[in-house]
Amino acid sequence: MQRRDFLAVLAAGVAAALTGCENATPASAPLMPGGSPSRLPKYPLKRGASPSSIATHAINRAPAGVFQAPTGLVQVPVPEGSITMLPGHGNYVALTVDDGTDAEVLAAYIALAKRTGLRLTFFANGYMSSWTDHARALRPLVDSGQAVICNHTWSHRDLTALSDHEIVREVQHNEQFLTNTYGTNGRPFLRPPYGSHNRHVDRILQALGYPAVTMWWGSLADSTPERPAQVVANAEKWFLPQRIVIGHANHPGVLSVMDQIVDIIQQKSLQPVHLADVYDLSQLPPIPPMPTQSPSPSATPSPTATPTATGTPSKAPSPSHKPSRSPSAPPTKGH
Ligand SMILES: [Zn+2]
Repeated sequence: MQRRDFLAVLAAGVAAALTGCENATPASAPLMPGGSPSRLPKYPLKRGASPSSIATHAINRAPAGVFQAPTGLVQVPVPEGSITMLPGHGNYVALTVDDGTDAEVLAAYIALAKRTGLRLTFFANGYMSSWTDHARALRPLVDSGQAVICNHTWSHRDLTALSDHEIVREVQHNEQFLTNTYGTNGRPFLRPPYGSHNRHVDRILQALGYPAVTMWWGSLADSTPERPAQVVANAEKWFLPQRIVIGHANHPGVLSVMDQIVDIIQQKSLQPVHLADVYDLSQLPPIPPMPTQSPSPSATPSPTATPTATGTPSKAPSPSHKPSRSPSAPPTKGH
């Protein structure tokens, strides 16, 4: 390996370890494929991970119907800037499930939600075939309002490294996929891949109908392969009131412990919600005209492009919930 290549790989590994979604994009992922998703190269799924191989073994012990839809929630407008935790006070928690590189894990989350009533926020990359393969199972949850499916861009590229045009295509191509497949375009919630964004990216996203990027404050740290016991430990650590916790449908480490995650939520008397439960989507600001100027120096990725520097909501949470550490400073490796 050439030294330059080695350094590039090393840098990529370090960056991935610090952010949200390592290895979510295959090395051979097309930059922006054309045509319909069905004609695109498929992400290599785990062997045997067909839609018919739903991992029911993973949820056999999860209690059925344990979670109900929240009542009495006062929805608030979607803020500008970024979202790192749920607004207001309460015992609500939002588990978000990203990427979808492992169809079996996605199927297990869908089955878990159907069985327990767990409300979920999905951040989908339409490029991952799992979102197409399991649309028939997932769409009823979206249609009923138990789950919400949002934009994680089409092919999970670092938005701070793209041109304005490429950013727009990554966002809008995924919107088209979500609209065709799930009947919703995902607005106004978008999570930038790797949690990587900056003011220039934010400005483009705002122009596309995303007033705030959606970050997190707590993680199952399962974007890379992780031991099931560690996933449980992460859940125990990060499922707290008003937290947005990031998980991934990427690796099977979570499969055998999904029922334990449900137990943890129950034991802590937390009420699962999704983002559309807590934000009033009827009061979204109109989509302003797209910015026309060429990329400025602020578009250059910098340390502030990481979630650490940009993860503070513009509407700060109440003091009692103010993060004692950066919400998106990863609690453990594997982000
Ligand atoms: Zn991701």
